[in-house]
Amino acid sequence: MPRNVRKAYIVCRRCNTRFTGGYCPYCGAENGAARSVLGRGGLIGGLLRFLFSLVILAIILSIAFIVLDYSASASGDAHGAARAILDSARYAIPASVLDFYASIKAQFLDRWITQIIEFFRVLFS
Ligand SMILES: [Zn+2]
Repeated sequence: MPRNVRKAYIVCRRCNTRFTGGYCPYCGAENGAARSVLGRGGLIGGLLRFLFSLVILAIILSIAFIVLDYSASASGDAHGAARAILDSARYAIPASVLDFYASIKAQFLDRWITQIIEFFRVLFS
């Protein structure tokens, strides 16, 4: 039986045992990688990544909501689909959030959107 000279040895990062295969026979670490839950990129990292993805998702949803809101109000009843999605979204959003959005919209968004529309009007005229 020929001896496999190209067999890859892995040095375990946790206990420095040389081994072959997927798991360290001494401490059970996978491929010599330190798999500690409390380590770097462990529980806290995963939690932060989860919270970060939630924030990104919330930002994407609010942008989609604002775009729908403005496209629905800009074209009246012409965009029936946008209005329908918006109405169903309003039921899912708490009233306090909608009130907050309405005040933000009155204070900042309307001015910004007007400026953006004006910018494109100048650009394409
Ligand atoms: Zn080990």
